[in-house]
Amino acid sequence: MHELSIAQSLLDIIVDESNRHRLGRINKVRLRIGELAAVVPESLRFCFDLVSRDTAASGALLEIETVGVTARCDKCDFSFEVQDRVFECPKCGQPVFEMLSGRELYVMSIEGETGEEDG
Ligand SMILES: [Zn+2]
Repeated sequence: MHELSIAQSLLDIIVDESNRHRLGRINKVRLRIGELAAVVPESLRFCFDLVSRDTAASGALLEIETVGVTARCDKCDFSFEVQDRVFECPKCGQPVFEMLSGRELYVMSIEGETGEEDG
């Protein structure tokens, strides 16, 4: 399953980051995912729940922001948002192969708590 390997690498990134910031517990993770990354948010959440068990990220909320696909025409230099996966320049009708965004998968931010007791 595609999402399972993504969830696993996400977890690696998140655990790494949380160690760096000495977070004992992760509450929320904000992700930015391109439409063409072919990730189903529900499926990713499900897989993340599985792989994050017994880690600091267990039970963390995944906030997923989907990013539209943008492309640039190399003929007329026009940048536009791709609708319905039609990779064709709306200005001159050329097929467009250069994508500016749409495949990314970023961890935007991680919110959590340090493991320290609050007294
Ligand atoms: Zn064009």
